[in-house]
Amino acid sequence: DLYVPGNNPYKEYKVIPIVPQVRQECMKCGLCAIKCPVDAISKDNPMLVDKEKCISCMRCVAICPSKARSVDDKSILAISKKLEKVCSERKMNELFL
Ligand code: SF4
Ligand code: SF4
Repeated sequence: DLYVPGNNPYKEYKVIPIVPQVRQECMKCGLCAIKCPVDAISKDNPMLVDKEKCISCMRCVAICPSKARSVDDKSILAISKKLEKVCSERKMNELFL
């Protein structure tokens, strides 16, 4: 059996559901719908997002020419706290063959 260090038994991965919101500045150009890697944004109406499909990659936020997509402050704070907890210490590389 392969032994891999860590916190056994492994905890269930809990995602923070972060789906970017669309604001009125959206001019419905459809770019975000075309570029979304999982087709979570409706091509007919970019205001509609399938929350079950969204993987929170933030590509739509990065590419929107109108800056109409964003994540609310509360969610950003939640992510910051989570990352601070798990990434505040340097971790050394480990190799498993
Ligand atoms: S890229 Fe921006 S402006 Fe274009 S449809 Fe998407 S949210 Fe609206
Ligand atoms: S965050 Fe990523 S997966 Fe979610 S709607 Fe935007 S582009 Fe699609």
